[in-house]
Amino acid sequence: MYLIKYKNTDNKKNMSKELKKWKKEKRLIPVMIRKYCHGKHKTKRRELCEDCQKLTEYALFRLEKCPFKVNKGFCSFCKIHCYQPEMKEKIKAVMKYSGPRMLPMHPIFSISHVIQMLQYKKKIKKEENQSDR
Ligand code: SF4
Ligand SMILES: [Zn+2]
Repeated sequence: MYLIKYKNTDNKKNMSKELKKWKKEKRLIPVMIRKYCHGKHKTKRRELCEDCQKLTEYALFRLEKCPFKVNKGFCSFCKIHCYQPEMKEKIKAVMKYSGPRMLPMHPIFSISHVIQMLQYKKKIKKEENQSDR
């Protein structure tokens, strides 16, 4: 007699789908910091200055601890923004510099960032209008 074991892979599949953006961000954040470091701090390819090394470790640590991993939005539009103020300023500078430079290599990532930004601005405007009433 053969016993057939059915594995329920649906949940696993759904979970990995839900974590897709989070995983992509974990992969792309170091790329963006590297771009910034090469461009702004004139480091060589594959090298990082001490500051950017610390920022990379910090950003990856925050992502690991992130409570919004499932179907994650970009940190820039996060309601709690868990970064320390100094690190927040640094990552903002990285995003500003590297964001547009990511477009040729990662168009979907860049475009979804712009879409989220527009949605975020719309939401903020709506909230401001409601509080004016
Ligand atoms: S800023 Fe928000 S989305 Fe980004 S890692 Fe922190 S909690 Fe998660
Ligand atoms: Zn640097």
